[in-house]
Amino acid sequence: AKGAGKGRWCRYQSELHTAIVERLELRAALTEAVQKLSFSVDYQPIVDMRTGVAVGFEALARWHHPARGPVPPELFIGLAEETGLIEPIGDYVLRQAAGAVARWRAERGDMSAPYVSINVSARQLRTPGFVGTVRGALAAAEVPPDRVMLEITESLLLRDQEPVWAELSELRSLGLRVAIDDFGTGFSSLSYLQQMPADVLKIDRSFTETVASSRRQRLLVEGIIRLAGTLGLDIIAEGVETEAVRTILLDMGCASGQGYLFSRPLKDRDVLGWLGDGPAP
Ligand code: C2E
Ligand code: CA
Ligand code: CA
Ligand code: CA
Repeated sequence: AKGAGKGRWCRYQSELHTAIVERLELRAALTEAVQKLSFSVDYQPIVDMRTGVAVGFEALARWHHPARGPVPPELFIGLAEETGLIEPIGDYVLRQAAGAVARWRAERGDMSAPYVSINVSARQLRTPGFVGTVRGALAAAEVPPDRVMLEITESLLLRDQEPVWAELSELRSLGLRVAIDDFGTGFSSLSYLQQMPADVLKIDRSFTETVASSRRQRLLVEGIIRLAGTLGLDIIAEGVETEAVRTILLDMGCASGQGYLFSRPLKDRDVLGWLGDGPAP
């Protein structure tokens, strides 16, 4: 028994060792990727679920690892956050996204150009000068602030209230919109929600995906939608994958959504094609 225990310990040690080495390797590779800017940004349509027309696009970072190929954000955003590399990566995403809206505007005209929605991490928001960075990126691309939304996770809004809320209020006063991302996973109290400097509430996929199968979940989501309405927040449902879910959400009064039912995230070059050739003359 003792021998088996020892064997297990050794295996544990070597697994731990492997995990640490892998992490260090990933970290070194990410540092190099930042120097070489081996990233791109994909755009997932946010649609009016009644018509299927895109009103906006969420910008999603992609890392192209020379050996591993594409690395999903789950594997590098957290690491980038811990190491501070999220700042140059976030900057890159911001500039790419601003450039993309500028092109959509040039191509489609101002009125029918969709907005872009950008994920912002805790570290970025706490970096001094973040407001100026955003402002500069929009000015450089000549993008009006109302074509840009920033997504902040509910948990971050709850955690770092004071500095983060002030920063977001300033951005909103410039005309940008703020969305509470992954809503439902962070346990906001009603009184907080009422005060949050936000315009939009994004219902997390974990809620959306179950409305077709559970009555309980349906009531919960209906409650969230009604609450958003009461507080004057717009609502976007994430992770809409089936026609059934789309119909239920529309019945509940949620008109905007994104998910594989409408489109996976698109390469930048495919966005205009997906939108069609522009508005009818
Ligand atoms: P998120 O903000 O919740 O983004 C939505 C994620 O759900 C995306 O994954 C998207 O591809 C995926 N998704 C969209 N529709 C569906 C669907 O119908 N079904 C399913 N199963 N999934 C769907 P992705 O691109 O892998 O991004 C994962 C997370 O990484 C994002 O979650 C966001 O938190 C983070 N992230 C991505 N890009 C950035 C970035 O530029 N900056 C920061 N700070 N975080 C980012
Ligand atoms: Ca998001
Ligand atoms: Ca989300
Ligand atoms: Ca989510």
